[in-house]
Amino acid sequence: MKKRSWMTLGVALTVLATVWLAGCSSKEGGNGNGASGEPASGTASALESIKSRGKLVVGVKYDTKLFGLKDPASGNVEGFDVDIAKALAKELLGDETKIELKEVTSKTRIPMLNNNDIDIIVATMTITEERKKEVDFSDVYFKAGQSLLVKKGSPIKSINDIKKGTKVLAVKGSTSVDNIKAKAPDATILEFDNYQDAFSALKAGQGDTLTTDNAILYGMAVQDPNFEVVGEPFTDEPYGIAIKKGATDLLNSVNAGLKKLHDSGEYDKIYEKWIGKAPSGE
Ligand code: GLU
Repeated sequence: MKKRSWMTLGVALTVLATVWLAGCSSKEGGNGNGASGEPASGTASALESIKSRGKLVVGVKYDTKLFGLKDPASGNVEGFDVDIAKALAKELLGDETKIELKEVTSKTRIPMLNNNDIDIIVATMTITEERKKEVDFSDVYFKAGQSLLVKKGSPIKSINDIKKGTKVLAVKGSTSVDNIKAKAPDATILEFDNYQDAFSALKAGQGDTLTTDNAILYGMAVQDPNFEVVGEPFTDEPYGIAIKKGATDLLNSVNAGLKKLHDSGEYDKIYEKWIGKAPSGE
């Protein structure tokens, strides 16, 4: 693990916090919109709708250890993103239990947001210019970089070892697919619907390496120590919380909430709980 890349997160967030100017324009009371329990469908009144409904509906991953993983035994969904979402529910609605989690994958998350199935996406989602055409993003709340997961002893030690015919596993709808196509155009890319399926395929020997954000790959290495993350990260993947375009009041409140989590030390606690335990890879 690049300790420094985690460290730069703090610096980046501090910078972002200082440029944050917008205030929370919410007023208590609500206007009755969205009280049906459905996610907010309006734009300007998105925050009011959430408040009158009394529940924040959040799209999180169910397949990504450390960020959002559903425990099949307990049914609980747990991880860094889940805790950030709960902390935001507390900031917005005064109580972290005023939240409903819905499963998203890399491919379904933007359509679900724009279809009003969810209010916000907190799901290992990189802020990109292309995605900004479809959704708005909060300030950066986590910094990752794309890397490679291999079985220990693999001849693949870095992106430079990916040659023609190397089978690379990735997940549909992720930036990882486009990035690996650009960085290793001769590789054979096999795409899966979610990260657990991709990891199962790697374990079954269906591919030589699995590529996505280092933070996600560390979660897999925790699940099965026969696998390890190799090479330097070869992209920047700044995570943002995605919000429906034009829902400015909600966006401002989410950014205000993130800033409060930093100021109170809550962010650091959540980070330490999930990411502090990740293997260093050094
Ligand atoms: N952060 C990358 C992305 O947003 C990869 C992780 C994911 O698939 O969610 O596409």
